[in-house]
Amino acid sequence: MAQSAKYVYFFGPQGTEGNAGMVNLLGGKGANLAEMAGHPDLRLPVPAGFTITTEVCTHFMKHNAQYPEGLKAQVAEALAKVEAAMGMKFGDAGNPLLVSCRSGARRSMPGMMETVLNVGLCSKTIPGLIKKTNNPRFVYDAYRRLIMMYSDVVMEKAEGIEPAEGQGIRQQLERLMEALKHKKGYEKDTDLTAEDLQTLCEQFKGKVREVLGKPFPDDPQEQLWGGIGAVFKSWNGKRAVSYRRIEGIPDEWGTACNVQSMVFGNMGDNSATGVAFSRNPATGENKFYGEWLPNAQGEDVVAGIRTPNPLNIATKSEQNKHLPSLEEAAPALYKELDDIRIRLEKHYHDMQDIEFTIQEGKLWMLQCRVGKRTGTAALNIAMDMLGEKLIDEATAVLRVAPKQLDELLHPIMDPAAEKKAKPIASGLPAGPGAACGQIVFTSDDAVAWAKQGKQVILVREETNPEDVEGMRAAEGILTARGGMTSHAALVARGWGKCCIVGAGTIKIDVAAGVMKIGDKIWKQGDEVTLNGTRGLVYEGRLPLIDATENPRLQEFMKLVEKFRELGVRTNADTPRDAKLAREFGAEGIGLFRTEHMFYGEGSDEPLFVLRKMILSKTTAERQKALDELFVFFKRDIKGTLEAMDGLPVTIRLLDPPLHEFVPQEEEKQAELAKAVGITVEQIQERARELHETNPMMGHRGVRLGISYPEVTAMQVRAIFEAAAELIKAGKKPRPEIMVPVTCDVKELDVTKAVVDQVHAEVERQFGAKIEYLYGTMIEIPRACLLADKMARTAQFFSFGTNDLTQMGFGFSRDDIGGFLPTYLEKRILMADPFQTIDQEGIGQLIEMAVSKGRAVRPDLKVGICGEQGGDPDSVEFCFRTGLNYVSCSPYRVPIARLAAAQSSIKSKRAK
Ligand code: PEP
Ligand code: MG
Repeated sequence: MAQSAKYVYFFGPQGTEGNAGMVNLLGGKGANLAEMAGHPDLRLPVPAGFTITTEVCTHFMKHNAQYPEGLKAQVAEALAKVEAAMGMKFGDAGNPLLVSCRSGARRSMPGMMETVLNVGLCSKTIPGLIKKTNNPRFVYDAYRRLIMMYSDVVMEKAEGIEPAEGQGIRQQLERLMEALKHKKGYEKDTDLTAEDLQTLCEQFKGKVREVLGKPFPDDPQEQLWGGIGAVFKSWNGKRAVSYRRIEGIPDEWGTACNVQSMVFGNMGDNSATGVAFSRNPATGENKFYGEWLPNAQGEDVVAGIRTPNPLNIATKSEQNKHLPSLEEAAPALYKELDDIRIRLEKHYHDMQDIEFTIQEGKLWMLQCRVGKRTGTAALNIAMDMLGEKLIDEATAVLRVAPKQLDELLHPIMDPAAEKKAKPIASGLPAGPGAACGQIVFTSDDAVAWAKQGKQVILVREETNPEDVEGMRAAEGILTARGGMTSHAALVARGWGKCCIVGAGTIKIDVAAGVMKIGDKIWKQGDEVTLNGTRGLVYEGRLPLIDATENPRLQEFMKLVEKFRELGVRTNADTPRDAKLAREFGAEGIGLFRTEHMFYGEGSDEPLFVLRKMILSKTTAERQKALDELFVFFKRDIKGTLEAMDGLPVTIRLLDPPLHEFVPQEEEKQAELAKAVGITVEQIQERARELHETNPMMGHRGVRLGISYPEVTAMQVRAIFEAAAELIKAGKKPRPEIMVPVTCDVKELDVTKAVVDQVHAEVERQFGAKIEYLYGTMIEIPRACLLADKMARTAQFFSFGTNDLTQMGFGFSRDDIGGFLPTYLEKRILMADPFQTIDQEGIGQLIEMAVSKGRAVRPDLKVGICGEQGGDPDSVEFCFRTGLNYVSCSPYRVPIARLAAAQSSIKSKRAK
């Protein structure tokens, strides 16, 4: 018989089989447990265990929940090794080993999948464990936790049972426990005695049988395989799937399952459990930061049920300063842990997120992984570690995700307004920045209200990973309970979302849709403002301001510039935008949309003239209107060329369909009719003539200038005269004329003849030499196919990937909302192609156009100016494809710069 593949990897004090490099196979948790246990530089105290690979999960999913052949034998063999390492036996009556079954995917998905603890406790092993520990209270507490978790995760969730709100088995069992506490007059779980817990376990088992129709399994092997199966199934659980959609994690990865010996933080007062970060994950400050709970199991910390104690004196906060730190309660253990954090950072060269348990005075490491952090923390940690020589410059640049920069450029509370305001509540500052919005109390409402364009603050009793969609949709998150390391806090921080947890004075009544602080009541829909950096909640909508210039960020961006090769320009239509973008580091304008002057502030006059031009019946009439329009064009173009002095400015000739500019309301029509001296009927007649069934594919772009060359002439005259005047004033304007929506080189040639003529005239008139480039947007697939021909006339290409995506997919960019969500949900598309370039399809068109164009004109300049130009993945694609630059909105310029530098570093490292 052929030997089956290796599915199980052991880790322990001796004979560890995996390492940190095996993340894809062992998941992050499994790979790091192996590294901590087995690497000669670490050899940390890790309870022995084994990892069942992600390949088993993918097999299990593909084969209708069947395991690959040979797995059972490999698990039995690894379990025997664990037993030997720990000196205990699984299922043994006298000396029983208990294990946990934990999920762990390639990338961490905090709280999104399942875990079962204390597996192996049953009527056979309970007496032995009581005898061994001499602690019946502990044993029955562990047993009641096993019943709660197992019935919830294995018997309910993994079986696909979806109970009504509040009727889940876990909640029903929790209610039994609360009832008993109430009856006995207890406040805390720890007040329950051994006898109480023993009674409770019997009640629990009765309830499980009653609700789920099956007895609670009393066989350790059955429990073990139940746990393993539930972990694998949880990969396809609701919240794991939602989280993957948001984070772009492929469904095919699967999770590993880690089966590990249990160690107990709830064995009495010299036992504890905790979660810590090697540096502060919110600010990046280089101080050991964490939370712990004496006499508790790990779930108590992360579930956010109790407000945990601070790890050390230095990081105590307003909320927890009355609680003893581990540093004070157990200084020797704290020192041991602190040494481990320093060794881990030296080994991994990055900030670590660790879980530990202290069992009767002995420290055990349960997990380490690269810690999630805010954008601020990412920046500070990268720059600090560079200073500490833990990492090199290129690594520092790679350490801040381009999207995190967004957060550093994002609003904070206006300090002056905040000074005057009085907070209504305070909590832990779990996610930075500020947010304001209307209160909602459920995740579903957050999603629904956000869809209606409202800004919402999701207010919840406690942090619950099931709220992931609502958290995403909300501007900010506020919870009444929970600590800094609770799942919601981790998730919010990963997204750079403003978040406050553990605001204990808030009482929430979801059913009534209200929250109460003291005697005061706030209803759903009322507005609040959160300061996530300080953990303060305010009533009403307070003003926010942009984060001020951060010297650390400037230092970082200087470093970025050392590595960046791809150019970054901006899309800007006003001198003001141009100036802002220049401050953000834009090296020119990649798209100046001239039609901007007909929208918004100050547009009344030019729009009126444009309308006159559209309504003209004769060339002479049109010319008269164009002469008036010329003044506005020249003014805007000159202002922008001046703001970008010395840098290239790509000015696009008028693009949008004319009918968009004909007034629709009678009142406006009458006003225009009067001014032009025609009747309203004549205007309506003209509007009917201009009406198009498919305006996006209608009389727009280059087609306008082909029909009316005088429209082109007016625009290029404005460009050249503006340039000539600036040259005369000693400036260095660098205009680039860009023709939109072309599909054939002849369109470019016909337009070029007009440009040449006007150019010669203006040069003569001003006695100046005006340098410029002439090029085209590439927005139509045919233009890509014929790019070699286009490049004979065009000196540059700029990919208009909004239209190219529209026409390449045949998806109307304005109507995509009707079907795109379904496409994403059904995984027909992995991402919105209007946000990130569809590299597989549209990418081919781009690659083809670049290579065909450069074959004819080797120095052809190529850029992109569609919305995707500021998307980090698209930037990387553009770099790989050999584009000269990307162009994006001003606020995304720093993001694109960082993404470009990272692309260069990654491509060098890959070589
Ligand atoms: C494009 O099509 O990508 C583009 C930049 O032009 P617009 O969005 O103005 O059509
Ligand atoms: Mg376009």
